[in-house]
Amino acid sequence: MVFKVKDEQERIARVAIDTPLPGLFDYSTIPGTQVGAIVSVPFGKRQMAGVVVEIQASSTQAADKIKAVSLVCHAIPPLSTDWLNLCQFAAQYYLRSPGEVMLPALPTHIRTPTHWEKWTRQANQNWPKIAKLMTPASYAKTAAPLLLTEQQRVVDTLIASASTNNFAPFLLHGVTGSGKTEVYLHLMAALLASNTTSQILLLVPEINLTPQLEMSLRARFPEYALAVLHSGLAEGVRANAWLCAHLGKARIILGTRLAILASLPHLTAIIVDEEHDTSYKQQEGLRYSARDLAVWRGQQLGITVVLGSATPSLESWHKSEAHQNRYQRLTLSERAQTHAVLPQVHLVDIEVERKLQRPIREGITQPVLQAIEKRLARGEQSLLYLNRRGYAPVLHCEACGWLSGCPRCSVHLVLHRDQGNILRCHHCGLETRVPHHCPDCGNVDLVPLGRGTQRIEESLAALFPQARVMRIDADATRRKGSAQTLLSAVHTGQVDILVGTQMVAKGHDFQRITFVGILNPDAALHSHEFRASERLFAQLMQVAGRAGRAGIPGEVLVQTRYPQAAVYQALTHHDYPGYARTLIAQRKEAGFPPFTFQALLTVQARDLSHCLAFLQAACTGAQAFAEILNAEITLFDPVPCAVAKIAGRERAQLLVESASRSALQRFLVSWTALLPTLRPRQKWQIERDPMLV
Ligand code: ADP
Ligand code: ZN
Ligand code: ZN
Repeated sequence: MVFKVKDEQERIARVAIDTPLPGLFDYSTIPGTQVGAIVSVPFGKRQMAGVVVEIQASSTQAADKIKAVSLVCHAIPPLSTDWLNLCQFAAQYYLRSPGEVMLPALPTHIRTPTHWEKWTRQANQNWPKIAKLMTPASYAKTAAPLLLTEQQRVVDTLIASASTNNFAPFLLHGVTGSGKTEVYLHLMAALLASNTTSQILLLVPEINLTPQLEMSLRARFPEYALAVLHSGLAEGVRANAWLCAHLGKARIILGTRLAILASLPHLTAIIVDEEHDTSYKQQEGLRYSARDLAVWRGQQLGITVVLGSATPSLESWHKSEAHQNRYQRLTLSERAQTHAVLPQVHLVDIEVERKLQRPIREGITQPVLQAIEKRLARGEQSLLYLNRRGYAPVLHCEACGWLSGCPRCSVHLVLHRDQGNILRCHHCGLETRVPHHCPDCGNVDLVPLGRGTQRIEESLAALFPQARVMRIDADATRRKGSAQTLLSAVHTGQVDILVGTQMVAKGHDFQRITFVGILNPDAALHSHEFRASERLFAQLMQVAGRAGRAGIPGEVLVQTRYPQAAVYQALTHHDYPGYARTLIAQRKEAGFPPFTFQALLTVQARDLSHCLAFLQAACTGAQAFAEILNAEITLFDPVPCAVAKIAGRERAQLLVESASRSALQRFLVSWTALLPTLRPRQKWQIERDPMLV
C-alpha cells in the first residue's frame, strides 16, 4: 500500500540510523526537517539520532506505521549531499547500513540530542570563541624554506593540476627525509591563498604525529584556522573541531583516519601522508580504508589527492605504473637537508658472528654494540628497533616445558617488568602475577624466552651505564601526553640510546640519530600472510630512514640469520622500486591483490566446529550466486584464524576472491543477505580488502 500525503507540506524523511538493519527509515517530517539535518527519531522503544538522507512525497509503508521525527537539531547546518553520498558509498562498499557509517562519523556530542539545546543556546556566542581557539595568535609566522629543484618541480605539477579543478590523484614517492612535508606545505599555501574558502585535509597515520605537524602548520599558517581531528581528543574538543570543519571555518584539517569522514564543505585537496601505513585501515566496526576513501572522495569532488610515502603500498605503486596510468607518480630521490644523504645499510650475519665466536651480549652483536659506542663517544644518538614490546614474549619452565599460555586466547602471555612482574595477554588484556613456581611441575626456575623492548632497554642500561637509555612503545606511552614528552626528550637531546617499536619508525624527523640497529626482524620472513614481506620492507625502510637526516652520515645495521633474503638485499640498496617490482611479479603469478580483489568472512563462536560449520554453510549457500556470476568468484576453504581463539571465542575465516571488483561486490551483496538466514545463527562480519590474510 502506498501512503500518499494529504498535505503538500507534509513529507516523508528517509533517515539513516546506526543499526545493522539495512537501508533508510521513513518518518513524517516536522518543521525544519531537511536533507542533511541531524534529527532524533523514535526507533523501536528508543529515541535514536539519525541523519535525513532524502525527503520524499510518499512512503511505501502503511500510513499508520509512520511516526514523526521527534526533534531536529537546528544549531547545526545540514550535512552536504557530497557528504551523504560519500557515506552512502562507504556503506555500500563496506556492506553496512548507511547509518552505521554516518552516525559514528559524527562526534558523540553532535549526535547526542541532549547536547543540542546547549549547542543551540550557545551557538552565537560560541562560534567566534571556538574559531579563535583554532587560530591561536601566539604563533609568529615562519618563513618557508627555499625548495630544492626536485621539490619545486613536484610542487609546480601539483599546483598546476589543482588549478584545473579536476580529479587528479598523485603518488608522491619521496625517499625518507626528502622533504615531503615541505611539498605539502607549499601546495597548501598556494591552494589556501587561491580563494577565501578552500579547505585542505591532511591525513597522518598516528596521533603521535599530529602535535609535531600541528606546530609546523600553525607556525607556517597563523592566518588560517586549523582543526585537529583524532580519536584521542576529549569529546567536547572533538565536537568543536568537527564543527569548525563543518562550518567551513577551519581551512586546514589535520587528522588521523577518522577525519576522512569529516564534513568538509569546501574541500579542495586531500593529502595522505605515509599512505602505505596500515593505521589507515580501521580494524574494527566499519573496517574502512581512509586512504581508499580519500581517493574516492577526491574523485567525487574533482579535486587533487596526494598520496605520499617513501614505501608506497603495492596497490598504490601499481596504480602509478606508467601502463596503468591511474595515479601520476612524482619522485623525490634525494634528501632535502644540506649534505644529508641516505644512510649506509649493512647486514650483520648472526651465524657468522657465532662462528667467529664474537660474543653476542643480550641478543646484541658486537658490530651493533661498537656502533652504539661510537655514537656515545661522539655525542650522537642511536635507535634500536625491535617490533616486540614487553620484557619477553613468553615465560618458560625448563624442567617440564611449560609455557605461559593465555587461558582465554591461543597466544602466549607476555612477560612485562615495567610495573612489577606480570604476565599480560596482548590480545584480550588479561593480566596475572608471574607465578612463583611452574603451575605444572612446581619448578621454581622459570625463565623468560626471547626479548622484548623492556629487556633490551634493561640490557643496554647495563652495557652502557654512562648512557641515557629510553624506551618508546605502546606501554611507555599509555598515559595521555607521555608520547609527546618522550619524543621531545629525544628531539632535545636528553637521550643517548632510544629503544622502540614501529611507533618510533613512522614519520618522525629526528635530527640527532645517526645510528639505527634493527635487532630481530627475521620472524616476519616466515609469516604466511602474503603481505608480510611488503610490510617488513616498509617498516625497515622507514626505521632505517630515521638515521642521518641532518647532514651527519647515518649508519644502519640489521641483525639477521638470512642475509641473502631479497628483502634485506633490497634494503641495503634502498631499492624500493626494485623490490616492488619483485613483489608485484610474485603477486601477479599467485593471483593476489592488486591483481585480484578480496573479502574476508570471519565468524566467532565458543566452539571452533560451530565456526567452521557456519562457514561451510555460507560456502554452500554461496555456490548458487557464484554460478550466476559465471564462476568469477573463488571461495577458499574455511580455516581457523591465525590467532584462533581470543577472549574465549574461537574464530575462523573464509576468503573470497575475484578478478573483478564489481563481480565481487554483486556477490557480496547477495551473500550478506543470505548469511543472517543460515542456521545455527552466528556472529559474523565481512571485511573488504582485508589486511591480515
Ligand atoms: P620526509 O617526510 O620526506 O621524510 P621531511 O618532510 O620530514 O621528510 O623533511 C626532512 C627534513 O628536511 C626536515 O628536517 C625538513 O625541515 C628538511 N627540509 C625539507 N625541505 C627542505 C628544503 N627545501 N631545504 C632545507 N631543508 C629542507
Ligand atoms: Zn614445569
Ligand atoms: Zn588472552
